[in-house]
Amino acid sequence: SWRNGGTPDSGEVRTADGVPVRLTINLNEPAELDFIDPSTVAGIGLMRSEFAVTSITDAANEEMQLAIYRHVLEWAAGKPVTIRMLDIGGDKMLAGLEEPDSQSAMGMRGIRLLVARPEIARVQARALLRAATSGDLRVMLPMVTFPSEVDAMRQMFREEAAQFQRRSVPHHIPPIGMMVEVPAAALMLDEFATADFFSFGTNDLAQYIAAAARDSSDLAAYGDKARPALLRLLSQAMKLAGATPVSICGDMASDPRRLPELLAVGLRHFSVAPTQLPAIRSAIAGLNADGTRAAGE
Ligand code: PEP
Ligand code: MG
Repeated sequence: SWRNGGTPDSGEVRTADGVPVRLTINLNEPAELDFIDPSTVAGIGLMRSEFAVTSITDAANEEMQLAIYRHVLEWAAGKPVTIRMLDIGGDKMLAGLEEPDSQSAMGMRGIRLLVARPEIARVQARALLRAATSGDLRVMLPMVTFPSEVDAMRQMFREEAAQFQRRSVPHHIPPIGMMVEVPAAALMLDEFATADFFSFGTNDLAQYIAAAARDSSDLAAYGDKARPALLRLLSQAMKLAGATPVSICGDMASDPRRLPELLAVGLRHFSVAPTQLPAIRSAIAGLNADGTRAAGE
């Protein structure tokens, strides 16, 4: 009877040939959690924090952010919660932010903006450091191009943690991973030794590979036609990832028709739109881990 389907004990999913697959959700509005039973999923694979922090005022409000992140962690009841730091720019803007170059998909956005505007990033880092004592929090960095960007944010977390240490404020440094959504990062994934995990953002990866804007309806066919190129890049990046955990949180993972090819490249953790959980769960059950259709399906 849960609005998003599934049975209360279906947090674990297996392919037809018995290979375990992690199924987590993408969270936009935190209020969506009211309609999802945490026992049916393996946690939150992507919380887009820009839906909770929508203005420059919110971005400066550590206590407000802390309350939201804690609420999400409490909902998850100990399961992993991956909160992505503000991915401002391109298709997602922050009200009141003056940064003209951020509106371009290839502009001053995501982690570039976080590094350039540390007053925004430090508030979020502090809220996340404090929230991390309330559950299994992981922090994800958006639009990473180079390892130095991961290092810069990690350093920021260390510095803020040291301040908390001095003031005896309870906190915890969470694992820090990254979105893989810029082709230059995907091609060099073996260089990102300081990232604790990777998650493929195929919405952006597809638009950069095909040089076709993700929000252009006229160019929708480019995404489809460029899919073999995207899958080749994913396959190469999977090999470069080595032992670092990998997931996919782009919308491609929410489309049951794409699951055979995503399983075939080796993906075993899918973070999907909550409404797609039942469809994805049954699609996985009907496929073998190599992406082939199970006998009798
Ligand atoms: C992506 O780019 O695939 C992604 C998951 O992030 P967003 O859609 O928020 O850009
Ligand atoms: Mg993206």
